Amino acid sequence: MSNFNPIQQFYRHPLSRAYAVKAKCAECVGCTPNHLEKGFKESISSCSSYSCPLRRFRPYQREKSLNSQKMPVQNLSMIGS
Ligand code: SF4
Repeated sequence: MSNFNPIQQFYRHPLSRAYAVKAKCAECVGCTPNHLEKGFKESISSCSSYSCPLRRFRPYQREKSLNSQKMPVQNLSMIGS
């Protein structure tokens, strides 16, 4: 199986919290130790389960974090007000 299977990665690093979250999210969207669901990274990235305690810690959020960095400077003054 692929070295990039998050569940397999967790098996190789069982004490890693990051791999544990990644594996749980992968399992949540249909992956197994022997199967990677097509588009699983996007499914995790776009997870809409706001009640899931892992949502803030889920992997594959790079695009979202890059988008937040593109916030126009004038909007930054509104943060915290
Ligand atoms: S954050 Fe989303 S993808 Fe990850 S375990 Fe929770 S519901 Fe599933």
